[in-house]
Amino acid sequence: MAEGLDPEGPSAADLDRYGDELVSCIHCGAKIYDQAELCPRCGAIQEEVEGSLGWWVYFLVGLMVVLMLMFVF
Ligand SMILES: [Zn+2]
Repeated sequence: MAEGLDPEGPSAADLDRYGDELVSCIHCGAKIYDQAELCPRCGAIQEEVEGSLGWWVYFLVGLMVVLMLMFVF
């Protein structure tokens, strides 16, 4: 989408500082930062949909690698 910047949304300076990772608020649809936990417009808590499968995936992969190494040696 190439619409103009929302005056209530993040400013260009903020975009420069935080990057342009914007998501839509799950409650009101406002453009908010990907890392934001709360919507600045309606205050809704943003549930982490992606990113929640972070550490344990790496943990399982690491565990499998360790098990494979144990079988090799
Ligand atoms: Zn919202």
